[in-house]
Amino acid sequence: MSPSPKLPDHHKDEAGGVTREQAEDAVRVLLRWSGDDPAREGLLDTPKRVVKAYRDWFSGYDTDPREYLARTFEEVAGYDEMIVLRDISFESHCEHHMAPIIGKAHVGYLPDGKVVGISKLARVVETYARRLQVQEKMTAQIARCIEDVLQPRGVGVVIEAVHECMTTRGIHKRGVSMVTSKMLGGFRDDPRTRSEFLRFIRNDR
Ligand SMILES: [Zn+2]
Repeated sequence: MSPSPKLPDHHKDEAGGVTREQAEDAVRVLLRWSGDDPAREGLLDTPKRVVKAYRDWFSGYDTDPREYLARTFEEVAGYDEMIVLRDISFESHCEHHMAPIIGKAHVGYLPDGKVVGISKLARVVETYARRLQVQEKMTAQIARCIEDVLQPRGVGVVIEAVHECMTTRGIHKRGVSMVTSKMLGGFRDDPRTRSEFLRFIRNDR
């Protein structure tokens, strides 16, 4: 049986000691802070929708990403070459502004006798993305999770993302994306492994 981590629970009525009602009140406060009137018709149901959306955007707190990697396959006919999943799209939120971070992750590892179902790597990315994040931290968390659970001979994670706190406010720089990487084991120590990974995930393919 594969692990079946919980689905995001939109109907949960309490989290972190806060009731749904209190969360909706907080949204009304921010609506007033924006300069609008939470009592006008178009905004009446907004607090309810926002609170529900939060259960989705931040559902990563309810899941242990390690569980996705718990089930491995060992009958791989001696396959010991690099496995790469590229262009894993994700949406996250920066922990400094709670603004969206929209990006892609590329994940590779060198198996040591066991592999995971490929969709599980995407699940790991998704789980960390659905928390408040700093891109550097998220990159390292994904790499560490794979290293700890699968114990492969190496792990590489590259993330490219656009931070809306930078594109829509502050210095307003559109089209700027940030790239972070975390290389462990053979991906860090062996330049050939690293360059093979980077070649696999290159944009101009
Ligand atoms: Zn930010």
